Amino acid sequence: MLEEIPLSRPEITDADVHMVTSALRSGRLSIGPMQEVFENIVASECGRRHAVACSSGTAGLHMVLLAMGIGPGDEVVTTPFSFIASSNCILYAGAKPVFVDIDPKSLNMDPDLVEAAITPRTKAILAVECFGNPKHMDAYRAIAARHEIRLIEDCCEGLGGRHGDRPIGSYGHAGVFGFYPNKQITTGEGGMVVTDDERLANLCRSLRNQGRPVGQATGGVGTWMQFERLGYNYRMPELNAALGVAQARRLGEIVGKRQRVAQRYIERLLGNPDLIVPTIDDRTFMSWFVFVVRLTDRYSAEERNRIIEGMHRHDVGAAPYFPCIHLQPFYREKFGFKPGDFPIAERVSQRTIALPFYTGLTERDQEFAAATLELMINRENIRRT
Ligand SMILES: *Cc1c(COP(=O)(O)O)cnc(C)c1O
Repeated sequence: MLEEIPLSRPEITDADVHMVTSALRSGRLSIGPMQEVFENIVASECGRRHAVACSSGTAGLHMVLLAMGIGPGDEVVTTPFSFIASSNCILYAGAKPVFVDIDPKSLNMDPDLVEAAITPRTKAILAVECFGNPKHMDAYRAIAARHEIRLIEDCCEGLGGRHGDRPIGSYGHAGVFGFYPNKQITTGEGGMVVTDDERLANLCRSLRNQGRPVGQATGGVGTWMQFERLGYNYRMPELNAALGVAQARRLGEIVGKRQRVAQRYIERLLGNPDLIVPTIDDRTFMSWFVFVVRLTDRYSAEERNRIIEGMHRHDVGAAPYFPCIHLQPFYREKFGFKPGDFPIAERVSQRTIALPFYTGLTERDQEFAAATLELMINRENIRRT
């Protein structure tokens, strides 16, 4: 069912359409100039020397792990409160995700628990800026440096954000952005690895292109059918890169609009005693991936689910962001995880509600979404009495 006020909706302008159609008319539909233009814009946005466009954020994460030589027998410390791709990529590489619980305020990993989880087998910390919040990234960086391991930044939710003057995407040895339609900017499907490490960037360029050699020889008659390593087809098509260029050129404007929508929700919902509204520290500039509120601990997961279903009945998009990764059937079966393993992540995850959030959300629709949320909460309160 198509909801009247969706959870998310990309902002597509005439400039986007023009850029995509001109790429289409150019006749170069893959491995063309748009990919590099897009890479240069994103690299400069987050202050990195190299950027490697690819077919999805998930593909980018997979390549980073491979390029770092992470594989069977290795451990990667990561968060159970995220989109599943951030730990699936560790499994693709044959390594083991070691989950640690989160800080209930920022929803990012608790730095003390990260440090405590490091063993001689730990090769990397894979940190996610949950919903775009860079809180604790400096702490993870310091821990990684102290233990001489890698910091991988899954910054798929944070393009355009920063803490102080440090942009999201500039914390890790490598970072990965994603451009699915619900992200700050979209290419339909797409992702990008960012790093200052030239060797790692070139390895990713080879991995995305079937393991072909990288450099001036690429595309030459002699090397096109030469494969130096096991690679993948993780390339970003030119049509998608063209959309990325047009979107990235107005990133500042898009982020400004997202901030205004988020601010309106905060002002509207902050006084509600049944809700925990996200709070961001003064030095953080949020680009806002999604807008997620939490019911207080007196509500159960069943009540939260009924509230979401009630919102859907009123054609208002809402979703539980995120169910814990360790409790997904596949992870339970493989690793024996059970409820109670990461109590803070679970307590949060049972009570979150993502609200409709996109640049074109009108004040009227936003008020309707907030009022519908409150109506459904009140229904639960009445049910109890
Ligand atoms: C969106 C996202 C990804 C990548 O998703 P793709 O759909 O593969 O582009 C990875 N990690 C997190 C935390 C995400 O939110």
